[in-house]
Amino acid sequence: MRFRSSKVNEFRLWGLALTMGGMLLMIIGLAGIVFDWGKAGRIIAVIFMIIGMVSMLVSMGIYFWAGMLSTSAIALDCPECGRRTKMLGKTDRCMFCKTILTVDPQFQPTAENETAAGQAVPIEPNRDHEHKPH
Ligand SMILES: [Zn+2]
Repeated sequence: MRFRSSKVNEFRLWGLALTMGGMLLMIIGLAGIVFDWGKAGRIIAVIFMIIGMVSMLVSMGIYFWAGMLSTSAIALDCPECGRRTKMLGKTDRCMFCKTILTVDPQFQPTAENETAAGQAVPIEPNRDHEHKPH
């Protein structure tokens, strides 16, 4: 398994994407009621609303789980960019410069391979210390 982004960010991205998808489905479901398509419209509306709601609940669960993971992750200063990042498991990527970080020295990747992926370092404050999902 290879993560292009850090694991915490990856989980967050999926959680957010699924929440958006769920909301979209619920909006489609609502359209079935608003435009009054008769009985079929109402059935479709109910189905879409249920799917949308389940999807939203699941994604909120993922998002919450990501928050839990980020609190249990090891905080360390990235040797490449000097920022404080979180690490899940034995190997993870820096949240900012995507450098592979590892606690096991024998799995240390070569620097030439991995710094190429981290050219664009996003300038954003690290809000992970607040322990809020947003
Ligand atoms: Zn870094």
